[in-house]
Amino acid sequence: MDDSDNIKKKITGNKAEKQPVILAVEDEDAILSLIKYNLEREKFKVLIARNGAEGLAMVQEKNPDLVLLDWMLPKLSGIEVCRQLRGNSQTKGVPIIMLTAKGEEGDILTGLDSGADDYVVKPFSPSQLIARIRAVLRRIRPVFEGKTLEFHGLKMDQAAQHVTYDGREVFLGPTEFKILRHFMEHPGFVFSRVQLLDSVWGNDIYVEQRTIDVHIQRLRKAMSDCQKNLGEFVRTVRGSGYVMQLPE
Ligand code: CA
Repeated sequence: MDDSDNIKKKITGNKAEKQPVILAVEDEDAILSLIKYNLEREKFKVLIARNGAEGLAMVQEKNPDLVLLDWMLPKLSGIEVCRQLRGNSQTKGVPIIMLTAKGEEGDILTGLDSGADDYVVKPFSPSQLIARIRAVLRRIRPVFEGKTLEFHGLKMDQAAQHVTYDGREVFLGPTEFKILRHFMEHPGFVFSRVQLLDSVWGNDIYVEQRTIDVHIQRLRKAMSDCQKNLGEFVRTVRGSGYVMQLPE
């Protein structure tokens, strides 16, 4: 029995279907309540930060699926938060929608320049905001649309546990499948070994950190067996962890 079988035995059932986690960085309580109420009704999980510095810290700590970022914030402006998120290898892939007040519309280009994916002008209707969130998630993380994940030619049928790249099958063990799914759900993010262990095995299970290296090696091997140039698609980031990079 190899260690992937051992690990498999330790895993107790699948986690429930993942809800998209949205971090709202906003200092006005009325707008926060509006966002929270409407997003929760649409089955999003909502996290809240009330100033720029707190927002930055929470993105790093919680890896949200998308950030709603107010422009005018105490401590650090939305633009500055956006620049810092894009400048950090761990957070540069997180989708960002800027919330801008009327009159700041002239600055929208600055917002998009600083790395935002989209913007919504206040006052906005909840349905408009939700439509924009879904559109950005669909563009960046097709994970939330049905059971098939797709990213740069890599396709994962979650129900059938079947993976292909450019139509050729990739043969993966169950643990490698879970690791790959985690990377595909968060393209561009750098994950430390501890974060990968927590996400793939759950944080109530003790697994040695080097176990993850073994599975990463297997994942690389399976990918390069499918297509040679994919061998390095999970890149080691010295001192930080691993990131997925696929040929464009
Ligand atoms: Ca504000």
